[in-house]
Amino acid sequence: MSSKNNIKAIAKKIRDIQDFPKKGIVFKDITPVLSDIELFRLSIEAMAKPFMKQNIDVVVGIESRGFIFGTPIADKLNAAFVPIRKPGKLPWSTENIEYELEYGTDTLEIHTDAIDEEQNILIVDDLLATGGTAEAACKLVSKVKGTIKGLTVLVELEFLNGREKLNPYNVHSIVKY
Ligand code: AMP
Repeated sequence: MSSKNNIKAIAKKIRDIQDFPKKGIVFKDITPVLSDIELFRLSIEAMAKPFMKQNIDVVVGIESRGFIFGTPIADKLNAAFVPIRKPGKLPWSTENIEYELEYGTDTLEIHTDAIDEEQNILIVDDLLATGGTAEAACKLVSKVKGTIKGLTVLVELEFLNGREKLNPYNVHSIVKY
């Protein structure tokens, strides 16, 4: 399959769920992509591709779907894997960041010793929407002194302009809406 056809095939498998988890949200369900051996593999390859020669030391995955894509991408890039998690989940000493949601705030955490100074980092999540989560992840990685080489996601909701928050980072997405 050509890469254009690969992207079309992946996009066809992403399922729209109306009003989930709350009214007015169209949830992009990526689980049918994971259930398809070939499309899951193609997704990982496409997400990793621009970073193959970027000397990535650590892939940082954002809880929880960032873990699903992040770990095989880390393997492909011959990199380590570090999780960014919701508060209270990481057992060791943590650095944290609070960020704004539509209503209220949320927090993300990373282990303080997870990244060595100046290591090259690739941040992974399943989907970029408003960019708030990815922006918080970038700030968190910067706090522990990693060098961010880019972000990769399977899905980008372009109409929400999340990318603008991530200037000047290299943001790579496969399926765009
Ligand atoms: P945001 O911070 O607005 O960019 O939201 C990104 C995070 O929320 C990612 O971890 C996504 O998994 C999740 N998310 C946001 N909007 C959606 C959506 N429409 N469908 C599926 N996941 C979403």
